[in-house]
Amino acid sequence: MPHGVEKPAGVLCSYYDNGCTIQETKPKACTEYKCYWLRLFESGEVDTTQWRPNEVGFMVSVRKGVMYIDGGRPEKDHPLLGYIKEREGDLKIIQRTG
Ligand code: SF4
Repeated sequence: MPHGVEKPAGVLCSYYDNGCTIQETKPKACTEYKCYWLRLFESGEVDTTQWRPNEVGFMVSVRKGVMYIDGGRPEKDHPLLGYIKEREGDLKIIQRTG
């Protein structure tokens, strides 16, 4: 049965339990979503040893001049945040979950 993710932004998905529990049938939005690290990885700017979300303990998304941080609270001078600011310019930072 098709379904969408019915939740407000920044709230943990009810299908999450140490990973997605509906991986095979997850919504299109989930399949298409790319965090900032994945975008950097796909463009060849980082490799799997650099700043991977499961290694650094947080995940970053950038949308419309805002950097959203989920899953953990990085130090303000974390090198990934500095790298993103260099690429994107001045961003408002919103810490969501974590
Ligand atoms: S991939 Fe989508 S459906 Fe699965 S846990 Fe994450 S938000 Fe929920």
